[in-house]
Amino acid sequence: MIVSIFRVTSMITAEDLRAVPLFAKVPARELETIARRAADVRLRPNDWLIREGELPAFFIVLSGAIDVLKSLGGTDRVINRYATGEYGGELPLLLRSPAIASLRATDASRVARLESADFHELVVSCPNLNAELMRTMATRISHVQELNASTVPPPAVTLIGHRYDIACHELRDFLARNHVPFRWHDLRDPEARTGLAVLPQPGEAYPVLVLADGTRLVTPSFREVAQGVGLQTMPSKDVYDVAIIGGGPAGLAAAVYGASEGLRTILVERHAPGGQASTSSRIENYLGFPTGVSGDDLGSRALQQAKRFGVEILVGRCAEAIETRCGGQAYAVRLEGGDEFKTRAIVIASGVSWRQIDVAGADKLVGRGLYYGAARTEAPSTAGHDIFLVGGGNSAGQAAMFFADYARSVTLLVRGPSLAATMSYYLIEQLRTKPNIRIETGSQLAALEGEDHLESIVIETRATGERRREATEAVFAFIGADAETGWLPRDIIIDERGYVCTGRDVMDLLASGAERWAPKRDPYLLETSVPGIFAVGDVRHGSIKRVASGVGEGSMAIAFVHQYLAEQSEAPGEARPRERSRRDRALA
Ligand SMILES: Cc1cc2nc3c(=O)[nH]c(=O)nc-3n(C[C@H](O)[C@H](O)[C@H](O)COP(=O)(O)OP(=O)(O)OC[C@H]3O[C@@H](n4cnc5c(N)ncnc54)[C@H](O)[C@@H]3O)c2cc1C
Repeated sequence: MIVSIFRVTSMITAEDLRAVPLFAKVPARELETIARRAADVRLRPNDWLIREGELPAFFIVLSGAIDVLKSLGGTDRVINRYATGEYGGELPLLLRSPAIASLRATDASRVARLESADFHELVVSCPNLNAELMRTMATRISHVQELNASTVPPPAVTLIGHRYDIACHELRDFLARNHVPFRWHDLRDPEARTGLAVLPQPGEAYPVLVLADGTRLVTPSFREVAQGVGLQTMPSKDVYDVAIIGGGPAGLAAAVYGASEGLRTILVERHAPGGQASTSSRIENYLGFPTGVSGDDLGSRALQQAKRFGVEILVGRCAEAIETRCGGQAYAVRLEGGDEFKTRAIVIASGVSWRQIDVAGADKLVGRGLYYGAARTEAPSTAGHDIFLVGGGNSAGQAAMFFADYARSVTLLVRGPSLAATMSYYLIEQLRTKPNIRIETGSQLAALEGEDHLESIVIETRATGERRREATEAVFAFIGADAETGWLPRDIIIDERGYVCTGRDVMDLLASGAERWAPKRDPYLLETSVPGIFAVGDVRHGSIKRVASGVGEGSMAIAFVHQYLAEQSEAPGEARPRERSRRDRALA
């Protein structure tokens, strides 16, 4: 049943643009084209429009005001302000560099956003506009030159690949989430093939990452990319006080508290710091951010904080085993590829991963139109398209709000009869404000269709079993998540869905005589069934799946780590890992 259908309106109109002085002499036909291609971005005070170092775009302020900020000496400084009718972003676009400044709304604002290709087309087709842009650019360049020249972002790396290749999609996501400025060339773009064979050659493999010094990495792993762009991938010490597995909010909080309290702290992250939260376009309920904060922003602030306290952060590395019997009161953490380091205590903060959709066509179209999570890097490519989101939770709601600025229409497919039971009230209210968001309850995705990439989907009305086909190039799935803990040692008890048991749950198993526990004390609140190994955040059995609770648990775990380490130095050898496997007695 479709509970609310809003008429899909053309968002930015030629009339909206006509009021902007820059477009005063642009012919009506061109103006219509620009309006059709522009994303309609609505911002609240303090919302970020773009961050320095990201892929650039062209912005026209239709209402409100936008501050221009540059990171100078580690802090953001306001260097300019765009009022209604002004524009920005032309400088990096014309120089083909990453965004050289951040833009943030001062007041509630409405902005038209043009992607790079559309901007360049516009410049070529309108000589008047070209001249005006050049004049502005000259003034702005001299202004930027007056600022500290050393703050200009490092040269970007270039990624070349097929738009519908999952490996290319994942690398773009990896680079963006690690804040590595990069240019991306779709192989269908002739410029992308510069320096490569003119025609596709047998055996030629993509994606290719071209580093600043010209080195070409062909189909690189995350680890190779991380090494290539200068991110840390190897531990520098043999032994740490605490190792944190996972760099989401819970892991980053543990890292900040661990290092700030003097522990030799290492954090291992297989992808990019920030975790699931960094895919969230807006976290509204995190304390201290009255107008909300984007997950990306929260993650990068936490990362800066952790680095400032001296946490070693390995990215692009996956922890694949913990050795609990290596003596000397230390555990060994083995990383994929065979590297290993020792640590006196461990905090598991590995969170959860998106559950996969199990319908016809899903496997072959992952990354080719079917995406798990918000995949913010895909947003510009949804501009002007009709897209579908599967799921009725807060994650789906936030993503709908984000994509609605780009896509022509966003349809949420929700299995239940309403959103009320699964989505926060504030978010349901926000969805109502977007004319191009449609909510279709009582519906489910029945199949995905397409050869090279997604072309259409089949939607089933659950009550009647009736099916219909809809053309679309993008489906984003938010159907829940599971803990991936198969790699943990068998002494760590997990429940039947992979979540790690801690504290009270471990005690209950001990009381029932099902488990053995060597120390004389009870397990600490966040301690697993192996003394000195803790679990925090979403991966923990019974956790509240929220940023704040993950951050709270990560911080608390460090207090328990201190107690555990103190007890180790008082009574060496007392707390020993148990000898028997308990996985087969997992909690229900
Ligand atoms: C789209 C979206 C919107 C959300 N909105 C909100 C909101 O508005 N408010 C709110 O409170 N919560 C929100 N949440 C939930 C919130 O983001 C999570 O509860 C929170 O991120 C959990 O943090 P975590 O650190 O426990 O795990 P995660 O964020 O899942 O981080 C775990 C990290 O561990 C890494 N990892 C996993 N295994 C390994 C391994 N073996 N080796 C190395 N690294 C590993 C992963 O790559 C990941 O980066 C949202 C979630 C999503 C997806």
